[in-house]
Amino acid sequence: MEKEYDYIVVGTGPGGATVAKELTATKKRVLMIEYGPRLNVTGFMKIGRSKVFRDDDNHLLHSEEDIWIGRARMLGGSSYVAMGNAVTPPDSILNEWGIDLSNELESARKDLRVNLIPESFVGPATRKINQGAFSLGWEMKPTPKCVDFNKCKACGMCMFGCSHGAKWTTLEFIEDAMKNGADLLLDTEVKRVTHQNGKATGVIAVQGKDQIDLHTRNVVLAAGGIGTPIILQNSDINEAGRGLALDIFQTTYGYSDFIGMKNEIILATYLEKHIEEKALFAAPYMYLPILVAMYSKDQRSAQMNLFNQMKLFLESTRVNTKRLLGMMTKIRDERTGRVMPDGRIHKTVTEWDKAKLGEAHEINKQILIAAGAKPETIFHTAYESGHPACTAAIGEIIDRNQETQIKGLFVSDASAFPTPLGIPPILTIVALSKRLANHLISSQS
Ligand SMILES: Cc1cc2nc3c(=O)[nH]c(=O)nc-3n(C[C@H](O)[C@H](O)[C@H](O)COP(=O)(O)OP(=O)(O)OC[C@H]3O[C@@H](n4cnc5c(N)ncnc54)[C@H](O)[C@@H]3O)c2cc1C
Repeated sequence: MEKEYDYIVVGTGPGGATVAKELTATKKRVLMIEYGPRLNVTGFMKIGRSKVFRDDDNHLLHSEEDIWIGRARMLGGSSYVAMGNAVTPPDSILNEWGIDLSNELESARKDLRVNLIPESFVGPATRKINQGAFSLGWEMKPTPKCVDFNKCKACGMCMFGCSHGAKWTTLEFIEDAMKNGADLLLDTEVKRVTHQNGKATGVIAVQGKDQIDLHTRNVVLAAGGIGTPIILQNSDINEAGRGLALDIFQTTYGYSDFIGMKNEIILATYLEKHIEEKALFAAPYMYLPILVAMYSKDQRSAQMNLFNQMKLFLESTRVNTKRLLGMMTKIRDERTGRVMPDGRIHKTVTEWDKAKLGEAHEINKQILIAAGAKPETIFHTAYESGHPACTAAIGEIIDRNQETQIKGLFVSDASAFPTPLGIPPILTIVALSKRLANHLISSQS
């Protein structure tokens, strides 16, 4: 006989794992369903070669208009590849949302053991950039991280999984949920939510070649800013998927004669004041040289086959990162994108976005030059992103309790954001998911 569940939770990123952990703590029977596999590997070669960043055609995920969209499909979702930044959103954004998350944010900071990066982990080039910013009247603050710096080896490879067990990921919450009795289906894609008379009745999923029909009265979709609206549209909520925002970012680089960011922890500091004052998240950044090569030459090269990517990687190792300084800035881009029911993504960079990214580039440039970069060497990369959001927004597709028009069908991930954050969103997603779990526990007990 089919096992009964109080909740089916779809997706195991910050949204899904949090809801599963909180619900099972009060003895709710939960089944977690995850599209991807459990990966224990770490490192550029292993994660880079896996399918986690890829779409169904095995390409790195891009919008039809060619903006790279970072998101990982695996147990833990994008938390596995996140940089460990755990930034609290400014009050201005939460006021805009009309949601009080203060208690849940406090609880999230505790669960993720958020702490400021110690001074000794801030590399010399980052410190040089901080001094450059300071000379312009801008103070760089140490970034709050969900990283245990007693374990961190400062390898700077967070994006390819933490091999030292220092970075928090949702694997911790998933383990808690399973200890409390949750079940987990891996490598299983939820296609749609079934419903009758306006109420959720279960999900239809695919595992390999098999279709699975599962029954429950409550489904929480947490398949991320891209995954959730696909499922919603295939479940007759046709308005989902509109208003996609990505927190688009761009990196400005410049060469100096004496210092570079090679092997430093990136995003170690950030311009906190600019978040409120300019709606920009600016921070020292220099990721693997492959990205420099990819994006400074030909953006489409990200869609090359493996052989050509490896060739490009070898070529890019010639980039002199011992002399390269970088600053990235995320913006709160306009909500103009759309995720289609078949998974295609439309997202352009609007004139407003371009102007904002231009403003960001000017700030980055001034800071880098003040830090010692040679003005004639300054260049910037193409547009990138890693925070898909707002595709099933509160006030549009879901109500204030994160429930859709189908009773018993809830959303709890970045797609629920009413407006883009423009800062690292994990802490906010965890807080929002705690809020939903509290609501479910109190209203259904
Ligand atoms: C490289 C990188 C670095 C980042 N660094 C940071 C950082 O330092 N700090 C920060 O705050 N944020 C960071 N982010 C962003 C952050 O990781 C994401 O915003 C966050 O993980 C989104 O959480 P989520 O729960 O909305 O979705 P996700 O984390 O995307 O999780 C969704 C899950 O659902 C699964 N899924 C999708 N479709 C289906 C389906 N049909 N059926 C079943 N399962 C499905 C996916 O496989 C995935 O596991 C980073 C992102 C990237 C890509």
